[in-house]
Amino acid sequence: MVLPICWSCQKPFRWKELLFFIEGRKKCKHCGAKQYSTTHSKWRSGVLVLPIVFIPSLLRLLFDFSFIWQLVLIFGLFIVFFAIAPFYYQFTDKEQPLF
Ligand SMILES: [Zn+2]
Repeated sequence: MVLPICWSCQKPFRWKELLFFIEGRKKCKHCGAKQYSTTHSKWRSGVLVLPIVFIPSLLRLLFDFSFIWQLVLIFGLFIVFFAIAPFYYQFTDKEQPLF
């Protein structure tokens, strides 16, 4: 997995810079260019969120564990999501629609 690069100066971002990515507010620290995620990148991030929603519910149905454990599992999966999501970003110069 490779971290995304700035669309303007082609310099790579650092993982911790992308932990809290806000559409259009993220700027490159080298050239100051605003970063917008591509449509493809938005879809890939969305696909990553699906297991966070479905895996805990499915496991609760199969193994009958408590609601508290389901919340703990959701929280844990969100941590995993935030850890790997920066690797799925791609940036462009203009805001792109989701569809
Ligand atoms: Zn840049």
